[in-house]
Amino acid sequence: MTHKEAERSIPSFFDESMENLELAEFLEHIDKCSECREELTIQYLVGRGLQSLSDGNEFNLAGELDKKLSKAHARLNRLYRLERFSWVLRTIVAVEAVILFVLTLQIWF
Ligand SMILES: [Zn+2]
Repeated sequence: MTHKEAERSIPSFFDESMENLELAEFLEHIDKCSECREELTIQYLVGRGLQSLSDGNEFNLAGELDKKLSKAHARLNRLYRLERFSWVLRTIVAVEAVILFVLTLQIWF
């Protein structure tokens, strides 16, 4: 993902409307690129800061953003685990199919 793409993705990161694949690329970029990380922080502070001010809430926005980022990482990790698990299941099913096939052949010949 390029800087421009990352920057464009920031709003959909905030409203959590990002597709998983895009989210993965976005997080990868944000983790490596201090420029975009800074841009993300600024946009977050501005957006949430104004909202919190008008709500009159106490806020720890930098901490909130970190939490949001680690939540996104957790979401992807969960997804990857599920994907791995479904691969394991598919492998088991495939192996069973082969075993069944071999057994069937043994019965026939
Ligand atoms: Zn960047």
